[in-house]
Amino acid sequence: MENKKIIIIGAGPSGITASIYLKRAGYTPYLIESSMPGGKLSLTYKIENYPGFDEILGSDLAFKMMDQLTKNNIDINFETVEEVEKKEDKVYVKTNINEYLTDVVIIASGTKENKLNIKGEEEFFHKGISFCAVCDGGFYRNKPMAIIGGGNSALEEALYLENIASPLYVIHRRKEFRGDKIVVDKIENSENIKVLTPYIPLEFKGNDKLESLVLKNVETGEIKEVEVNGVFEYVGQSANTSFVKDKEILNEKGYVEVNEKMETKIEGIFAIGDVINKELRQIVTASSDGAICSISVINYLKK
Ligand code: NAP
Repeated sequence: MENKKIIIIGAGPSGITASIYLKRAGYTPYLIESSMPGGKLSLTYKIENYPGFDEILGSDLAFKMMDQLTKNNIDINFETVEEVEKKEDKVYVKTNINEYLTDVVIIASGTKENKLNIKGEEEFFHKGISFCAVCDGGFYRNKPMAIIGGGNSALEEALYLENIASPLYVIHRRKEFRGDKIVVDKIENSENIKVLTPYIPLEFKGNDKLESLVLKNVETGEIKEVEVNGVFEYVGQSANTSFVKDKEILNEKGYVEVNEKMETKIEGIFAIGDVINKELRQIVTASSDGAICSISVINYLKK
């Protein structure tokens, strides 16, 4: 069992910001990441609403954040957190390679993508179906592709694919999109994008690889099959909190409940970024959470 003062779980924009603020205040947080630093940012095409950059690729912004970690001498420890639990006046953290007792844990573990749970989805995952247009869109260049979903993630990644796919379908279950108007306008005015609403996907079909998608019009009941080789699902997210043993800090959907100081109801456990229960999930709000949390943690440790 190793002792730590501060453990941060997740190296996305919120965890990175908290790490930088804490380091600059004289602490050395132990930053844990299970996969790719930068979080969802690394998988995002273009960012146009982060101050200071008119337009920047998600991967470039993620790289700049990681570079800033390096310049502040903060290491990323590649471990997968399996348990977090309050034990007396410490917090116990178990990962796939070690066990820790820490004064403070900051949960910044973000969200994971929801699946559609329809026929053929398991069979054709990575054989045509993916959660990341930026990573996998190039495999199906000049072939028919589809984006499923009507939120900002779906629509922004559709703009990435619009000149790669031929054609690109955007399939959404309602006639109104959930995403921001500025992106919706670009989708609706694109010559290469065919918007199919209100349709729900029923089944993925193919032989070795994905070949088509069966859809149902939820208003008319019409069933149609569209030829597609690549399908990118953006149908929402769920909180990465399965490792949290103190379930009383979670809401009914699994998101962490915090106050305005990013404190949970358990002393020593804080949470920030997309994993918390909040209205607006943005890079800028994740970073803001990280900054606020670092001050709360410093005050908590001084008590
Ligand atoms: P989201 O906003 O929750 O959108 C999910 C979409 O999937 C919705 O359109 C939803 O339809 C649809 N959907 C859900 N379940 C479905 C199902 N079973 N079958 C078919 N469609 C289904 O998720 P997101 O787009 O990933 O965004 C997550 C958060 O990150 C949001 O707060 C978003 O604003 C933010 N974000 C911001 C930016 C940015 O500002 N640049 C970029 C990306 C994400 P309904 O609309 O009918 O519910």
